Amino acid sequence: MTKHYNLIGVGIGPFHLSLAALLKKASDQNFLFLDQKKAFHWHSELMFADADMQTSYLKDLVTPVDPKSPYTFLNYLVEHGLFYAFMNTERRTVTRHEFEHYCQWVSEQLAESLQFESIIEGVDYQDNKFFIHTGRETITSQHLSVATGLKPRIPDCAKKALGPEVFHAKSPDLAKIDLTGKRVLIIGGGQTGVEVFTNAIMHKWGRVSKIRLISRRQNLEPLDESPFTNEYFNPQYVDRFYSLDQNSKDPIVKAQKLASDGNTPKYLEKLYNHLYQLKHVHEDDLDFKILPYRNFINIQKLPQGYQVTLQNQFHQCEENLEADIIILCTGFINEIPKFLAPIQKLIHYDQEGRFIVNRHFDLQWEHGSQNKIFALNFSRHRHGIAEPQTSLMAWRSATIVNHVTGKEIYKINNVVPSFIQYGKIDE
Ligand SMILES: Cc1cc2nc3c(=O)[nH]c(=O)nc-3n(C[C@H](O)[C@H](O)[C@H](O)COP(=O)(O)OP(=O)(O)OC[C@H]3O[C@@H](n4cnc5c(N)ncnc54)[C@H](O)[C@@H]3O)c2cc1C
Repeated sequence: MTKHYNLIGVGIGPFHLSLAALLKKASDQNFLFLDQKKAFHWHSELMFADADMQTSYLKDLVTPVDPKSPYTFLNYLVEHGLFYAFMNTERRTVTRHEFEHYCQWVSEQLAESLQFESIIEGVDYQDNKFFIHTGRETITSQHLSVATGLKPRIPDCAKKALGPEVFHAKSPDLAKIDLTGKRVLIIGGGQTGVEVFTNAIMHKWGRVSKIRLISRRQNLEPLDESPFTNEYFNPQYVDRFYSLDQNSKDPIVKAQKLASDGNTPKYLEKLYNHLYQLKHVHEDDLDFKILPYRNFINIQKLPQGYQVTLQNQFHQCEENLEADIIILCTGFINEIPKFLAPIQKLIHYDQEGRFIVNRHFDLQWEHGSQNKIFALNFSRHRHGIAEPQTSLMAWRSATIVNHVTGKEIYKINNVVPSFIQYGKIDE
């Protein structure tokens, strides 16, 4: 017999893990989350030993809405006998490794609601329910939730050159690479670019002969973590932002870029110190350059390596440089998952072809009044810059749980107002 659920979630990254953990309190709901992976892993291609989270460990999968939950990071520490040792580290953020360990531990607690090694190939809709097809079986559900993550963004001019010498950092090629004696070009000066550059100059993949880091931005720009900026990661701000019309939202999201996409300031400090020691104390002759204000516009194969053309926005000129290995740290894009193709025509999109995500994170679609399609990490344009981040994931999960059950299982409407008034002056 076909198994039927109240809610099926596709993808088990942190966002659905948070939702699965919070759904545990909704005792009348049966739910299942599926992922193609063998077990929980988090961006393993980019799991560098020196990489830290950009978000406080208290903003874990559940704590902001349910600090008494058994799935908190603090409970993870206590269960592993790590509480006192962790406190002595005086950290405000944990390493990405430790966040992954914590998520793996939660995924073990939730094992009966998670099913790995299940790739979703298609989703149909009939008779008021979704039919979810994995390679092995078909299961049905009243509601669907999609949190399948982002895809690497490959600049058009790089597509023709993709291969083991030109690849996106989030790909298995990075783990296999040997940079010994190679001329290396890293494209992108965001956090991933800076992490790859730092690891490369520390010889993680062998000693390079030359290394260049290029960025479109004016410098290696820091994440703005100051308190007033952090008010954007507050449910009240999201609520205000949501109420704006779409034409006002897009420029605001663009203007707030460095509040969510900048480089971790501590990491920049560490890199600067490392370069200082390398060059001025150890007098190492490593040939490195950090080249901001450059747009990557072309790539051409040479008999030996590649020639890359850059548009220098500072001097308004074109420049060329040669490299053997090119690592694209060019960010990520949202792509509507292919498995939605059978119901794609029933879903509504905005003028840019993006999902129209309602306040409670469900999509506008033909049968949305009885069967919800929730989409997580697809709504920066509707909910603002906090939406693709972990900061408000627990709050978003609680919003969904309350909405699906029609009950106030989590208290999410009592957040005190911010010191900055985004409402109208007389409100
Ligand atoms: C390297 C890196 C570091 C980050 N660090 C931070 C940070 O410090 N703080 C912060 O706030 N944000 C951070 N982010 C941003 C964001 O929090 C993460 O991208 C987060 O992983 C998003 O979670 P997710 O659950 O949406 O997606 P993912 O973690 O990407 O998980 C999606 C899952 O869906 C599965 N899947 C996809 N398609 C299918 C299918 N058809 N069938 C079955 N399974 C499928 C995939 O296997 C995957 O496991 C970071 C992002 C990156 C790339």
